[in-house]
Amino acid sequence: MQIHATSVASLFPESFALSWSPNNLPRILLLTLTFTTGLVFHAGAEPKPQPLSDGSYQLHLVHTHTGERLNIVYRDGAGYDPQSLARLNRYLRDHRTSEVHEYDPRVFDLLHDLTTALGNPALEIDVVCGYRTPWSNEFLRTHGHGVARHSLHMQAMAIDIRIPGVPTAQVRDAALALHRGGVGYYAASDFVHVDVGRIRHW
Ligand SMILES: [Zn+2]
Repeated sequence: MQIHATSVASLFPESFALSWSPNNLPRILLLTLTFTTGLVFHAGAEPKPQPLSDGSYQLHLVHTHTGERLNIVYRDGAGYDPQSLARLNRYLRDHRTSEVHEYDPRVFDLLHDLTTALGNPALEIDVVCGYRTPWSNEFLRTHGHGVARHSLHMQAMAIDIRIPGVPTAQVRDAALALHRGGVGYYAASDFVHVDVGRIRHW
């Protein structure tokens, strides 16, 4: 079960401020109900990747830095395909240093479900940035690219994308609705960062 940290935290200050007097009882009951409903709602938001009608999970990727194209079935009813995961890991290597890191496969499910949510699982996704070595992350950070010091790109849990033909704000909204992790919208550079870390957005 995933608990949305900010929504839970936002309920607490008020409940702490209420003392246990009979006058406050209705409000305390209401807060308890709201809190419990929140937990149930978030339990229902657990990721359930949806396969295509043939039971497969596919990705169609174009890398903006290497120019490489990858059309791949990385998962089926039996689970993730290790060879496909290895190809994806290589594909999403740090394009500056060529170092490869094992990706969290939930990132692939997130991308797959994102195209489905946008109404077309065959959509091509432009990869702006995949895995980043600490060296690359620090290089970008010190050159004013708005990169976080502890970016999840360094754990291969994040990817920056855009989808040709789909407004990037629409990609952001679809990613937010999936509730899978972090979503960052970079309007000026026209891309969306998605990761499978804590649910948050910026
Ligand atoms: Zn990013």
